[in-house]
Amino acid sequence: MRVAVIGAGPAGLAVTLALRRAGIDARCWERARELPAEGTGLTLWPNGLAALDRFHAGDVVRAAGLAAEGIAIRTAGGRTLHRLSSDDMESVGGNGIGVHRAELVAALAGLLPRGTVRYGAECVGVETVGGRARAVFRDGTSTEADVVVAADGAGSTARAAIGLDVPWRGGGSTVWRAVVELGLPPGPGLLTMGGDLSVGVWRLPGDRVYWFASGPRPGPRPPDRLRDWHEPVPELLAATPTERFVVTGVRDRGRARSWHRGRVVLVGDAAHPGLPHMGQGTSQAFEDALVLADRLRSTVDVAAALRSYEESRRKRAEAANAQARALAAVGAWHHPLACRLRETAVAAMPRALRLRQLAALFRLPR
Ligand SMILES: Cc1cc2nc3c(=O)[nH]c(=O)nc-3n(C[C@H](O)[C@H](O)[C@H](O)COP(=O)(O)OP(=O)(O)OC[C@H]3O[C@@H](n4cnc5c(N)ncnc54)[C@H](O)[C@@H]3O)c2cc1C
Repeated sequence: MRVAVIGAGPAGLAVTLALRRAGIDARCWERARELPAEGTGLTLWPNGLAALDRFHAGDVVRAAGLAAEGIAIRTAGGRTLHRLSSDDMESVGGNGIGVHRAELVAALAGLLPRGTVRYGAECVGVETVGGRARAVFRDGTSTEADVVVAADGAGSTARAAIGLDVPWRGGGSTVWRAVVELGLPPGPGLLTMGGDLSVGVWRLPGDRVYWFASGPRPGPRPPDRLRDWHEPVPELLAATPTERFVVTGVRDRGRARSWHRGRVVLVGDAAHPGLPHMGQGTSQAFEDALVLADRLRSTVDVAAALRSYEESRRKRAEAANAQARALAAVGAWHHPLACRLRETAVAAMPRALRLRQLAALFRLPR
């Protein structure tokens, strides 16, 4: 079987790797001219790492990142509302890790034989013709395969080409992300909520920190009121020049009607675009890669394999998106009474219940 993968982000690289490990001739086409050197950080969770382990990619990714010591939710003033220790996290699958996106992508690409990814190849259309799939590129070239995997992100061109575009939904918010050189002591992956602003802090290897802020209004950098928050937020704000921020307007999308049509199948953000507030997008993409490779391995019925992939994955991916949507909504509260209610609810959350929820999120289905 021959598979053409469109997009060499985390989903495309993982699916190419998983398919090749399953004995399938998979190759990848990427719009960018080369591997990205810039970018920002992200968090990966035990479910994503466990999926990578199943196709022997977990160790290189762990080595590219840094494990947090548990997780914590704080108020702007620094009061800890909720804390899970490293041991708590290990009991439900492991600690989350912070990783630079460019280093994650380089680690995955480094596991593929040279020449597996063709850079500078922008896909402009995909179609199924006579039981074969075809992808067409801006330079006029095309490729045929038994299956085309669309891993070209939330705004997927391939998805639109097969009539499965996913509409926007709801209003938007702004996320400012940056990686800065700062030696913070080991500690939990941190989420702080104050009014309608949230901040996350994750250490990266080599005395670097990935941090993000999210809020309702656009702007070149996060609001100055973060200067009054608990440390290390003011320190991070001061250490980040405006041009260092990656500023993203985020907006939710609805669900795709289907994840496949003909011989074209969607993975990663192309299949289940969502809000980033749970930090699960990449981990869910790695789960997609694992399941799709499993279903296509030695199948004689491609349509049934693609159906089975979607059946297995849709519920979990959409549940993660629903949790992100709920967290985003609660994080946007700004009335002081609502914020006090939020703090009381987070502080009152039973530890055992939270551990059960995380165990369900992190445990891969059989
Ligand atoms: C503000 C923000 C914060 C986030 N934080 C986290 C986090 O902490 N943890 C986490 O897991 N996730 C996070 N996410 C989500 C995460 O970035 C995505 O879930 C993840 O990148 C999805 O990977 P992907 O490969 O499906 O898509 P993408 O990362 O979008 O990659 C798509 C790839 O396809 C290429 N491409 C696009 N169009 C074409 C084309 N026409 N032809 C060829 N190639 C093409 C692109 O260049 C790119 O390389 C965050 C997202 C946002 C917006």
